[in-house]
Amino acid sequence: MTNIILLGPPAAGKGTQAKRLVEGRGMVQLSTGDMLREAKTSGTEMGKRVAAVMDRGELVTDEIVIGLIEEKLEQGAKGGFIFDGFPRTLKQADALGELLAKKGLSLDAVIELVVDDAALVGRVAKRAEETRAQGLPVRQDDTPEVLEQRLRAYYKSTAPLVGYYWATKDLIQIDGMADIDSVSVAIAKILDKA
Ligand code: AMP
Repeated sequence: MTNIILLGPPAAGKGTQAKRLVEGRGMVQLSTGDMLREAKTSGTEMGKRVAAVMDRGELVTDEIVIGLIEEKLEQGAKGGFIFDGFPRTLKQADALGELLAKKGLSLDAVIELVVDDAALVGRVAKRAEETRAQGLPVRQDDTPEVLEQRLRAYYKSTAPLVGYYWATKDLIQIDGMADIDSVSVAIAKILDKA
């Protein structure tokens, strides 16, 4: 069983790669963004509380996302967990370490998808366009203005995790600018070694 974190800015390709790992390796994707969007759509109390924060591209509180992850960890995962969009702060990283340890689990790799900011703006525009073409609702935070805020939140709160996981020797950086298949191959190599 392999547990990994996919780290990287918005639209780096974390969700795309996570979905491939779910299909190919039976891993379980834990995306706090998906969980929060679900809560928002179904109109739960928590969903209502986080809606405005998410629409502005800011981070919701550590307590909320740590709670969501804690619940999912209870359910277990034979093929291992993929943490996608979590942790996003140092506090969340500490909490994840503690939660895993409590369950007798460990982190096998933290994979950073390294991409450049200019490309992200183009990717987000493309994602919104493709979603619209499929007749699906476009993410409210996939606009150039909100993306800028999401990038700021990333550099302020999440980028320090690169140093954090470098220090714990879990960090592996891969080229997130490569095409989707090449990124998948790079991730597969890491997982096969883990
Ligand atoms: P994502 O789908 O990962 O891009 O997340 C969408 C939005 O959900 C983010 O812009 C945040 O507002 C919120 N969010 C998702 N994951 C977290 C997290 N781990 N910590 C704080 N906020 C989060």
